[in-house]
Amino acid sequence: MQVAANKVVAIHYTLTNGEGQVLDSSQGGNPLFYLHGHSNIIPGLEKKLEGRSVGDAFEVAVEPSEGYGERDDNLVQQVQREAFQGVDAIEPGMQFQTQGPGGAMVVTVVDANEETVTIDANHPLAGVALTFKGSVESIRDAREEEVQHGHAHEGDLHDH
Ligand code: ZN
Repeated sequence: MQVAANKVVAIHYTLTNGEGQVLDSSQGGNPLFYLHGHSNIIPGLEKKLEGRSVGDAFEVAVEPSEGYGERDDNLVQQVQREAFQGVDAIEPGMQFQTQGPGGAMVVTVVDANEETVTIDANHPLAGVALTFKGSVESIRDAREEEVQHGHAHEGDLHDH
């Protein structure tokens, strides 16, 4: 069986940036289960896993445009300190979840003083060239319900 649309695929992977720093890894834990062809994972990786078989090792370079997008300087904004009511100390590097036009988004604090907070709504991996290195662990046909929901009912991403 090969990786194709409507297959539930499990991969082990290690994600590194252009400097070779490890950003994320499934090694030592459960593999990542996802439903192929439903944009569960970033497009550049999904495209390059197509047609692979169980046991295949892969090393995939993903440009920002096929990953988490390019950085957009317009997404760096100043907001009033009052917007963070209930938060005692705001420091650069802190992340908050907020509602954006496209749904939930994570913003990162760049700078903060008593009146204003500068936040960056770019994805932390926007503009970063990524490399995924790993292996295909299993492939199976998705169940009807999984195809309808658009995700795999297995693994850590499954929360209902
Ligand atoms: Zn579901």
